[in-house]
Amino acid sequence: MPELPEVETVANGVNERVAGERINSVWFSRYKEPFKTDPAAMADALTGARIEKVYRVGKHIVVDLGSGPGGAKRSKSSGVPQTITAQWIVHLGMTGRLLVSAADVPVPAHTHAVLGLSSGRELRFVDPRRFGRLALHGISPDAGSGSSGHFSGPGREPLTISPDDFVRLFKGRKLSIKAALLNQSLLHGVGNIYADESLFRAGIRPTRMAGRLSRERLLALHAALQEVLRKAIQLGGSSVSDYVDADGVAGFFQLEHHVYMRTGQPCLVCGTPIRRTLIGGRGTHYCPHCQR
Ligand SMILES: [Zn+2]
Repeated sequence: MPELPEVETVANGVNERVAGERINSVWFSRYKEPFKTDPAAMADALTGARIEKVYRVGKHIVVDLGSGPGGAKRSKSSGVPQTITAQWIVHLGMTGRLLVSAADVPVPAHTHAVLGLSSGRELRFVDPRRFGRLALHGISPDAGSGSSGHFSGPGREPLTISPDDFVRLFKGRKLSIKAALLNQSLLHGVGNIYADESLFRAGIRPTRMAGRLSRERLLALHAALQEVLRKAIQLGGSSVSDYVDADGVAGFFQLEHHVYMRTGQPCLVCGTPIRRTLIGGRGTHYCPHCQR
């Protein structure tokens, strides 16, 4: 399943390739599962819109749609950010991919959306297992300027939350720190790999109750979480072209895992065998010596 760094890499790669293009045509598959918004309403909003920007929010890819230069409300030289009229929200699920392809590249099996772009290329959503989701987030014309009314997801953003806000997030929480990290209404976008890896780097046992961790330990976790996510994004950045181009071969470089899926293997720091336990139904990996 794509985690936050992969989603960020895909969003940035797609943004570099399609920002500024207009959507000339829209095709959707007849499967029901990928469409959280009525496909006809979604096609209507997408057709003719200009792709202003593509970026990541949590584990969602957000495509800002606007009317672009020449639109009724903006003069070209105003310097004011484009008015965003709606947002196309893409969640990759387990096996979803968002590809930018030349129109003459054969459409892969399991393609559920094809947006024909003004450059002649296509933005395609391919998802064999159909756990991915496509939705339209409408923005009321009364929302005003800035980002009010824009898609934000339920929780805080792990890469930009301040140390103090991070500490406050866990105050009084009577659940394990591992479960708290995975709780999308607290932080959105942190998945199993980066929860386990950041807890290892911060030396915190995943079963510790979140609300009982000291400020110092939570600050260490904040630093560790942002470090592992940033490193993974850096590594992923060099594989962007493999990920989104043409036939879309996925080539995401993984961080070297210290604990994740290393059950029974020696800890890279102390040599103690890595243990696995279940927390909230999720496999959780830790070093019983390094993590207290
Ligand atoms: Zn260890």
